[in-house]
Amino acid sequence: MSRAAAPPVDLELVRKHNRPGPRYTSYPTALQFRDDADAQRLVAAASAERGGLSLYFHLPFCESLCWFCGCNKVITTDNSRAEVYLDALMREMDLFPRDVVAGRQVVQLHFGGGTPNFLAPAQILRLGAEIKKRFTFAGDAECSVELDPRFLTRDHVRAFREIGMTRASFGIQDVNPDVQRAVHRVQSDECNEQAFAWLRGEGFESVNVDLIYGLPGQTPESYGRTLARVLAYGPDRFAVFSYAHVPWMVPAQKILEKAQLPDPGDKLAMLKLVIETLTAADYVFIGMDHFARPGDELVRALESRTLQRNFQGYSTRGGTEIRGFGVSSISQTERTYRQNRKSLEQYYDDLAAGRLPVDRGLELSDEDVLRRHIIMRLMCDFRLDFAAVEEIFPVRFAGKFSDSLSALREFAADGLIELTGDSITVTEAGRLFIRNIAMCFDAYAQPGEGRHSKTI
Ligand code: SF4
Repeated sequence: MSRAAAPPVDLELVRKHNRPGPRYTSYPTALQFRDDADAQRLVAAASAERGGLSLYFHLPFCESLCWFCGCNKVITTDNSRAEVYLDALMREMDLFPRDVVAGRQVVQLHFGGGTPNFLAPAQILRLGAEIKKRFTFAGDAECSVELDPRFLTRDHVRAFREIGMTRASFGIQDVNPDVQRAVHRVQSDECNEQAFAWLRGEGFESVNVDLIYGLPGQTPESYGRTLARVLAYGPDRFAVFSYAHVPWMVPAQKILEKAQLPDPGDKLAMLKLVIETLTAADYVFIGMDHFARPGDELVRALESRTLQRNFQGYSTRGGTEIRGFGVSSISQTERTYRQNRKSLEQYYDDLAAGRLPVDRGLELSDEDVLRRHIIMRLMCDFRLDFAAVEEIFPVRFAGKFSDSLSALREFAADGLIELTGDSITVTEAGRLFIRNIAMCFDAYAQPGEGRHSKTI
């Protein structure tokens, strides 16, 4: 794979293949999690594992609602609610059987939200100290935090740095004030510049910026100006998402229908612009929506075929158990997924009763594990060798997946993959359609499934 090549964007092919589909941060996807899952059984499965730990803490509070947002969040300006929540996080950590943790090192820590900097600096220090009391960290653990520059102070940045965070990520979405007003997230240029200056000044090694295309009021011309402005800040990574309009799941998004959403043609023109602009600026297209500078460990993992995918997107740390804490967080072991309660009230009730706050989950079958392997290798390596699958799993690939291979012929005919008798190679053009290509191996996917957003 040539490193900085931009996948060519053929708008006709995008129109043809742009169908709803999962983002495959897990397989099976969260839609398959069962309400009647046995929490104790799911947690017990973790005790058989001895690999590294990846800890995720969901910090759900935000001071103001962005109308496009699909995250699990709680809008409030009352900081005392964070104090109550931190107490609950401590209880949740303490409920976990100690033998599951003994002898295992944390290789990744991530604070997501919501807005982790809703916590006051003293609360950040307290949370960091309580985590370190309970877990042993590897010397090179990767520690990252999501931030909202609108409510960030230098003291927040210092507190996150003090507890070991070295990577930050924040949303800008669009720098155009009209677009910002239309989505109820006004964030000035000065505010973004200040956030970069504080993060760099306090020694953060990597800063990721999230952008969204497809928001009300955006045009290809205005979006070109946004890209130019954000490039000037010099982020290390970009995540550029297609706005997922799913008002049946996120009712606040209905507000955006009153404004002028870009038509599909303009949206595709913006996608083309994003890829061409960022790759011309020497960012490497990782896959899906991610771009990183050459030399970034995501790029090295892409090149060495060690890239992984999990609930936080692309990752470089494989073979870890993901342990989620906090409302709605998702945990993953080798053969299980489990998700915590999604409402604060239920989350608190379970913890008060001494129960793990598990809402639903799934034990993977052998078939799920096989298909997950195939889907994740395609999503991360953009290539699949059938013999390599046969080495790990007791299957004859061509016979077992004859239906999938038939479905892939259309992608091959359109030049999006090269399909031979022993491998699938996704072409540069095909990387844009990786979700659709992976769906050919998804036993649960329904054609045109309406509960997912469109893939582009
Ligand atoms: S700050 Fe982030 S999590 Fe909170 S509403 Fe806005 S986009 Fe969603």
